[in-house]
Amino acid sequence: MSRDETETPWWLEPGPETCQHCQGTFHYEAGYHCFQCDSPICPVCVVELHETRQVSCPDCHAQADISNDEQSG
Ligand SMILES: [Zn+2]
Ligand SMILES: [Zn+2]
Repeated sequence: MSRDETETPWWLEPGPETCQHCQGTFHYEAGYHCFQCDSPICPVCVVELHETRQVSCPDCHAQADISNDEQSG
């Protein structure tokens, strides 16, 4: 008996793609591409926009958040 098998699903195992946000590697099929900057995003860093059903990277998502600054007059 060997315990070589891990509980890690295949889409979280290291792959040929590199995430620019966590420097982690992932499988192309399991990853996403930011609809704004088209950079590869791993399943861990991806941000899903429920309103538009698009996926965004943490950077673009943060910028969108900042630009949403409220202005009181
Ligand atoms: Zn990542
Ligand atoms: Zn982006």
